[in-house]
Amino acid sequence: MKRTGFLYDKRYLLHDTGPYHPERAERLQALHQGIHDAGYLSHLTHMTGSLPDMQWVQAVHTAEYIRRFEELCLGGRRTLDCEDNQMGPDTWETAKLAVGGVIEAARRIMANEIDNAFCAVRPPGHHAEAGEAMGFCYFNNVAIAACYLQKQWGIKRVGIIDFDVHHGNGTQDAFYTDPNVLYFSTHQHPLYPGTGSVHELGAKAGEGYTVNVPMLPGCGDEEYQAVFEDILAPIARRFNPELILVSAGYDAHWADTIAQMNLSVSGFARLTEILKVLANLACQDRLVLCLEGGYDLKATPLSIAATLNVLFGKKEFDDPLGQNEASSKPSNFYSHLKTVKDIHHIK
Ligand SMILES: [Zn+2]
Repeated sequence: MKRTGFLYDKRYLLHDTGPYHPERAERLQALHQGIHDAGYLSHLTHMTGSLPDMQWVQAVHTAEYIRRFEELCLGGRRTLDCEDNQMGPDTWETAKLAVGGVIEAARRIMANEIDNAFCAVRPPGHHAEAGEAMGFCYFNNVAIAACYLQKQWGIKRVGIIDFDVHHGNGTQDAFYTDPNVLYFSTHQHPLYPGTGSVHELGAKAGEGYTVNVPMLPGCGDEEYQAVFEDILAPIARRFNPELILVSAGYDAHWADTIAQMNLSVSGFARLTEILKVLANLACQDRLVLCLEGGYDLKATPLSIAATLNVLFGKKEFDDPLGQNEASSKPSNFYSHLKTVKDIHHIK
C-alpha cells in the first residue's frame, strides 16, 4: 500500500460561478461523497488548502494580472477577462487556497511524508495564462507547483502530464522554452482552446519538451492506453523526471457532455496505473494529480475513486457505468499514432 495524500477543503466550494456554470461547487461535493461511499477516506492522508507564498504565484503570473484579479474580484466584478470565468466574492481567496494546497501536497511528497497525492481543487488551472484567466482557470496550479519544486527543492526535471480533454495552453506556454519541464498532453481536437497541434513542440532550448497528442472525437480506453504506452512511456523514460505532476481532468469520460471522448472509469484507472509505473521507475513514486475538468456528477466521482484506488494500491474496483455501447471509433487512429511517434523520434 502507498501513502496517498488527498487534498480537499470545504473552502473550495466558496468559488461561486453561478447556477448554470459547468465548473461549480457540486462537482467537489459529489466527488467527496463518492470517495466516502467507496470507503476510501480512511485510506488517505488528508490535507487542506492553505495560502501560498505569493512568490510562487508570481513565478508564473504577471504582477499586473495578479493585481487585476484581486482588485476586480474584491471589487465585486462577476467575470475575469471573459464570460467563461465567472467570479464570486470568494474566488480570489479560493484560487489562492487551491495553489497553496497543491504546493503543500508537493512539499509533503518531497519531505517523504506521502508517496503520491490527489488534489481535489477548484478552480482548475491549466488554461490560465501568465496574464489572463481562461477556460474557468485563474491561477495555473500545476505550473506554479512545478516552479515551486524547481526553485525550492532544486528539482531539475519536472514531468507534467495532462489528460484533461482540453489542451492545457497555459501550462504549455509557461514552459515552452524550458528544457527542464516536459509538458505532455492528450486532448480532443478540434475543441477549446484550439491549441495543442502535434507540431507545437516547444522552442529554443525547450524544443522537443512539449509533446502534444491531439485525439479525434470518439477515442476511448484502447486509444488512450496506446498513446500512454507507445508515446508517453518512452518519452518519460527518456526525460527521466524527478517528480510527475498530472493535470487530471475527467472530461474525456464518455458521459461528460462537454466533449465527445469515450474513456470509461476503468480507462482512467488504467491510465493511472501507467502513470504510477512511470513514477515508480523514474522518481521514487513521486506523483501528484491535480483536478482540472470533469463535469458529469456521476462519472467524475467514480473516475476519481478509481484513480485513488490505484494510487493507494487496493485492487478490485467496480465500474458501474461501463463502456459507451453506442460509440464509434475514429478511423486511421493508428496511422496518426505513427505520425506522432515519428515526429518525436520514437521507434
Ligand atoms: Zn477540460
